[in-house]
Amino acid sequence: MTEPARCPVCLGGRTTLVLDLGEVPVNSCVQIDDRAAALAFPRGRLELAACADCGHLFNAAFAPERVEYSARYEETQSHSPTFRAFHAALAADLVERHRLRGRRVLEIGCGKGEFLGLLIDAGVGACLGFDPGFDPARAPRADGRVEVRRAFYGPEQAGLAADFFVCKMTLEHVHAPRALLDTLRRACAGRAGTGLFFLVPDAGRIVAEGAFEDVYYEHCGYFTRASLAGLFTRAGFTVTGLDSLYGGQYLGLHACPAGAGVVATPAPAPLDVAAFADRLRERVAGWRGRVADWTAAGQSWAVWGGGSKAVAFLGALGRLATPVAVVDINPRRQGAWLPGLGLPVVAPAALTRMPPAHVVVMNALYREEVAATLAGLGLAPALHAP
Ligand SMILES: [Zn+2]
Repeated sequence: MTEPARCPVCLGGRTTLVLDLGEVPVNSCVQIDDRAAALAFPRGRLELAACADCGHLFNAAFAPERVEYSARYEETQSHSPTFRAFHAALAADLVERHRLRGRRVLEIGCGKGEFLGLLIDAGVGACLGFDPGFDPARAPRADGRVEVRRAFYGPEQAGLAADFFVCKMTLEHVHAPRALLDTLRRACAGRAGTGLFFLVPDAGRIVAEGAFEDVYYEHCGYFTRASLAGLFTRAGFTVTGLDSLYGGQYLGLHACPAGAGVVATPAPAPLDVAAFADRLRERVAGWRGRVADWTAAGQSWAVWGGGSKAVAFLGALGRLATPVAVVDINPRRQGAWLPGLGLPVVAPAALTRMPPAHVVVMNALYREEVAATLAGLGLAPALHAP
């Protein structure tokens, strides 16, 4: 018997394995230039464990040193008008809610810096971002109000003062989230007015839907409302808001250093994960059956979205499920090969040479804009979402 893994959120030891997904590609957003390298891409074990105390889900077999965050990491969703509208509205909301006009914001895991540019547009005075995958050629603005350092944010940055800290779609990649929160608590010491905003995928939805396309190696942590709020409370913060965002896909947490006069949101109840593994397997089996039916009927199908969800979705369906194409609207993804699958990512226009009967849109929120793009190409396949 091996020892149960320690929960990275509450640091407790009452954890149990809920789902063993075997070996999966250690990266799903890295751009690979050829098919052989994509097929030979390194794999790592994905063993989802659940914590009985705080309800957090995490990959107990995760090895952080195996994941690559470099300039060839292509995570942006900003080619989607739907995402761009969400991103700009989020920046404006943060500036209003936390009175950030003219103030200084630090973003942890800022990617290509797009959100920092939006914060400046919404009235923020100056921004500092950290991301090892930042590309200076894609800097959001040239007026010196956004500085990005190509590095991880760590304990050595605790002395950097900011009025507000932002961390979006990053905490779920962090192997030791409590250590990051401890650093931030030190960064806020003596600055009672400091605020924080964190955005993560909502594991409550993943569990409720058995959303297997949202479980992949880069995400070592799966935050529920309870485990996310609990992480901040234990680290000395007061949670002042916990919002469901982007059609229920994301959780947005607002917090400030714990202190007098701050009203906390009620602590959420832990999530029941007992049926998660069965639900997930049922959904994988359902999709395998659907794709087998299409193939038997001579109907081709394509996947829309060449990022992490596609790698997880197609990886779970297995070798017999081969789409005619994997499409992405991000020109930087086109021409790259999906890790572990050896499938090329193509531009939407490529579908006109091989019109599919079905298109599986990896994120249901993009269904309408995908339908519009397809209509513009003279195509009208049946649209599905996982
Ligand atoms: Zn825990």
